Amino acid sequence: MSLIVIGSLAFDTIETPYGRRERIIGGSCTYFSLAASFFTQPKIVGVVGKDFPVEMISLLENRGIDVQGLKIASGKTFHWEGHYGNDPNQRSTIRTELNVFKDFRPQLPPDYQTADLVFLANIDPDLQEDILFQVKKPKLVAMDTMNLWIQSKPQPLLKVLAKVDIFFANEEEIRMLTEEPNLIKAGKMILSKGPILVVIKKGEHGALVLGKDFIFVVLAHPCEEVIDPTGAGDSFAGGFMGYLDKVKSFKESEIRKAAVFGSVLASFTIEDFGMERLKSLSFKEIEKRYLQFKKLVSF
Ligand code: AMP
Repeated sequence: MSLIVIGSLAFDTIETPYGRRERIIGGSCTYFSLAASFFTQPKIVGVVGKDFPVEMISLLENRGIDVQGLKIASGKTFHWEGHYGNDPNQRSTIRTELNVFKDFRPQLPPDYQTADLVFLANIDPDLQEDILFQVKKPKLVAMDTMNLWIQSKPQPLLKVLAKVDIFFANEEEIRMLTEEPNLIKAGKMILSKGPILVVIKKGEHGALVLGKDFIFVVLAHPCEEVIDPTGAGDSFAGGFMGYLDKVKSFKESEIRKAAVFGSVLASFTIEDFGMERLKSLSFKEIEKRYLQFKKLVSF
């Protein structure tokens, strides 16, 4: 099968209790595709400015990621700044500079249009919808979003939501979108709008996967030092979707395993700033932690 993703490729400025990093590589599409590349060869859609390092694009290509859908435009790359305090689940967005994303109108290469799995990573919902129109007969479509879009573009976001199979969100986002504090009720509200699955990410507490007739709870790896939580959500989704693309099955037992792989990938991302840990990660380490997860919940 094949998997495409649209989302941001970014410069991130990040401050956590472990330090500050200026303009390191980030972005929802970048984290997602690197995480997914451990299972499959994702195709990315996005835009960067001429200031984006070519070495990063080469790194993606060396991982088997298809970059035909990546445009290099004149102008500056998307820039996001986020700060975290002692609670890694709480973050403040200090600034979001869309830059080249403002005028980005993606045109999918022909072999992207026949993708089986589509991931609409966190980006402007209008762009997410634009991509959906261009993919002919996807078997599974998933989306993510962020508070900026929930607040600034709720209607376009709800329009996309009605067309997807899986909705990924963190606790804060799903509460904001549904105005419902209870996560189970909030998840059910989302299920009534179209998706068949809702994945609620709960940071260091793992994630909740809600289907029409099942609930699966996945733990987060008990990590003693969360150096930088940025990208955990996208890495989770990358592991999840990448695994499903690899096994070519969406049955419940595979969805459960996909969620565990998602949690494993996220647990590595937060061990260092930016993409550093994902860059040095091996599939052996992923498998080892997957088995540790099994032990963690067996009783
Ligand atoms: P997460 O997995 O939720 O931690 O996603 C963090 C990534 O999302 C960062 O690397 C940012 O560059 C990117 N990001 C932050 N805000 C936005 C936004 N409004 N649209 C697209 N990407 C964003």
